[in-house]
Amino acid sequence: MAQEFFESLVACIRKDAEAHPGQSIDPEVLREFMGGAHSTPENAAAAPRPTPTQTPLPSPRPAPVSATPRSIPRPIPAPAPFPGREQPQNARIAPAPVAMESIHSLDELHPAVLACSRCPLAATRHNVVFGEGDPHAKLMFIGEGPGYDEDMQGRPFVGRAGQLLDKMIAAMQFKREEVYIANVVKCRPPGNRVPSPDEAAACIGYLKKQIALIRPEVIVLLGATAVNFLLGKREGITRLRGKWLGYDGIPVMPTFHPAFLLRQESAKREAWADLQQVMKVFGKVYRRQG
Ligand code: SF4
Repeated sequence: MAQEFFESLVACIRKDAEAHPGQSIDPEVLREFMGGAHSTPENAAAAPRPTPTQTPLPSPRPAPVSATPRSIPRPIPAPAPFPGREQPQNARIAPAPVAMESIHSLDELHPAVLACSRCPLAATRHNVVFGEGDPHAKLMFIGEGPGYDEDMQGRPFVGRAGQLLDKMIAAMQFKREEVYIANVVKCRPPGNRVPSPDEAAACIGYLKKQIALIRPEVIVLLGATAVNFLLGKREGITRLRGKWLGYDGIPVMPTFHPAFLLRQESAKREAWADLQQVMKVFGKVYRRQG
């Protein structure tokens, strides 16, 4: 199976290289991203190395809307990013602890989120997971919400999925501290369930404020929940991934969540293709080490 998988992967890479002669692939980082028994230096080294060039970013374009997958909750109706401290219409959502207009930096936003109890997730969390990274990052990753490890440590993407995200970031020739990592909800939904629409509506203003303060050049949305709640898209991630979307003038690339990639290793080659599109925006090209 491993040999068969890699033969198909190498074929995929070769096909992509033929289609995009300016893009090349580092076998080392690709092997690290792919990981495990499926990867061998010999297989990775089989990837072609065309001459690097920079490819212009395609214009963000909206995807058509279709039926909601059963695993994804109904989309929220574009909640307002905390216009102030007034009582929200939904009685289950408490007022924001501070008016967003009065916040001008992540350092100011952070304590407000730490003190938040707008939604029921506050009652079961161990830690608020605000997000972390370069406050001036060019690249931002947005996931669904904290899991067990993140809840215990108060940091985003530090469990197994986080370790895979680290490899994805490294494969893209970035360092984790150069990017910014955040989630739709800042507190762990019990049992790692998908955040409810009310919970997401209560929390999404914090994420939107983070995006507004950071103003990254590209956002990578990890999984359907992030796409659903930030962009209001109702399609599954399988249909949305790999296609440029947009948020507030910022190009957005949806791809699979690392937790999904841990369960579905064969999807890594599609995720890698998505990440390569992002790499092209930054002129990232093959660089053999050693
Ligand atoms: S999930 Fe968001 S809105 Fe809910 S309590 Fe945590 S920080 Fe507040």
